Amino acid sequence: MRKKIIAGNWKMNKVLSEADQFVTAVSDKVPNSDKVEAIVCAPFPYLSALVEKTKGTSLKVSAQNMHFEENGAFTGEVSPVMLKDIGVSHVVLGHSERREYFAETDETVNKKTHTAFKHGLTPIVCVGETLEQREANETEGLVETQVKKALDGLSDEQITQTIIAYEPVWAIGTGKTASSEDANKVCAHIRNVIKEVASESVAEKVIIQYGGSVKPANVDELLAQSDIDGALVGGASLEADSFLQLVEAGA
Ligand code: PGA
Repeated sequence: MRKKIIAGNWKMNKVLSEADQFVTAVSDKVPNSDKVEAIVCAPFPYLSALVEKTKGTSLKVSAQNMHFEENGAFTGEVSPVMLKDIGVSHVVLGHSERREYFAETDETVNKKTHTAFKHGLTPIVCVGETLEQREANETEGLVETQVKKALDGLSDEQITQTIIAYEPVWAIGTGKTASSEDANKVCAHIRNVIKEVASESVAEKVIIQYGGSVKPANVDELLAQSDIDGALVGGASLEADSFLQLVEAGA
């Protein structure tokens, strides 16, 4: 049985006091369970404080991005070494907003997955199609390419540990959710792709999340699907109550 992973992606929101209040309200309520895991993906300036604050609790702390190099002349960037050093456990890679506004490509995502593993960070790799691509019937082919390129060169062991988030771009922040059947179909396709690039036993273990306007009202139906193992949540993860409801749905 795969566990459910609920990751709250705050994006570029909250000031430090709000981040602190959220974690105060949430961290002790996250169950220590092998059924569900909860992660907050916070802006860089808060990561260190949130790692300290969540020590001894089951709430994990993730970055929303990182550079693929370990150090050097990359003004404004944050490296995997720095994230690991302050105790961050996960990192979101290739979110569609990074792909759209910050020139993230399948190649940079692949470099980042490799450095993430080199430094003991668990990558949450985002894939998903735009509305035009969906309407042109390109969803499965596109997602397949994104997954294959992101995982290229990783060992089976590393692929097993990778979290994949299927996030149709047209469903992110729009209030439009893919129907749970459609979302499940694409997640099942991703699992088949993993079977092809690794093996059946790896594919059975990989966590595949759905993301795109997930909220307490639709999370149960999504998590009930055979191949959806959790959610990457933006808007509905900003409020502590709503985030906790999502975590409870996975428990
Ligand atoms: P949303 O964002 O839940 O606000 O649609 C999801 C995401 O971008 O990860």
